[in-house]
Amino acid sequence: MKFAIRDDDTCYFTSVAALERVYHDIWDRIPVCLATVPFAIGYERAGIPTEHWHSGNAFPLEENAGLVASLRDLVSSRRVTVALHGYTHQDFPDGYEFQAAPDPERRIREGLSYLSGLLRTRISVFVPPHNALSRRGLAAVGAAGLNILGSFLSFRPSMRPWDRRTPGNWWRVRRFRASAGLAKSDRFVYPHVIRYADHAEFGCHSLVPGTTLEELVAGFEAARHAGGDFCLATHYWEVSDAMKAVMLRLIDHAARHADVRFVAAEELFA
Ligand SMILES: [Zn+2]
Repeated sequence: MKFAIRDDDTCYFTSVAALERVYHDIWDRIPVCLATVPFAIGYERAGIPTEHWHSGNAFPLEENAGLVASLRDLVSSRRVTVALHGYTHQDFPDGYEFQAAPDPERRIREGLSYLSGLLRTRISVFVPPHNALSRRGLAAVGAAGLNILGSFLSFRPSMRPWDRRTPGNWWRVRRFRASAGLAKSDRFVYPHVIRYADHAEFGCHSLVPGTTLEELVAGFEAARHAGGDFCLATHYWEVSDAMKAVMLRLIDHAARHADVRFVAAEELFA
């Protein structure tokens, strides 16, 4: 069984210290997949100065030289891997970036080339800002050959481009839900990679304020029971001491199983 960690929103506004605070005693055990924004535009959240919440200015990652140097070191020592997390991560009046931007294809293409060049690493995973993707956004990610790490609780064929594998995938998710005794309205994370013609997808378990250890252990055990894998997703900027304790106890729980392998999130798709 594979166990991975994904952390979202590393960008120009991120300090090295903020990442170290959460992961200094974790990334030597498990490489952390940092879903990184290449040209961040501010929005309302902790960790972004209020003057940039609505300024609309885009900040290239390279303008935070200290962070870039640290990320290169962390990548080369295999403590972190890098995923593409949108292009600007900006919110549009009618949706999140990969629901509402007029040019998702260009954003993927340029974001990928910029980020992999700057951080000197290969990027194979896309994490949609706010876990939101339109049908066109999904097609753009697939066309670029990137796999998707999301937090998918459901599988809606109407929301996605159709390919030859879609019907089989739909049946697989449906069968899983039925065998787990879940109703259509129940929240769940499908614990296997779903492969499409041009990309693959995997759903993560979110650690947000209020998430309990019991919930995450139940998700881990359900994935384990199904012969699946597990990925935890969080945001360094909202990880409190209590959330960090939950994270460590979950990792300790997973480590007690001899067949659990801590892997980089990219390996979930291998
Ligand atoms: Zn994000």
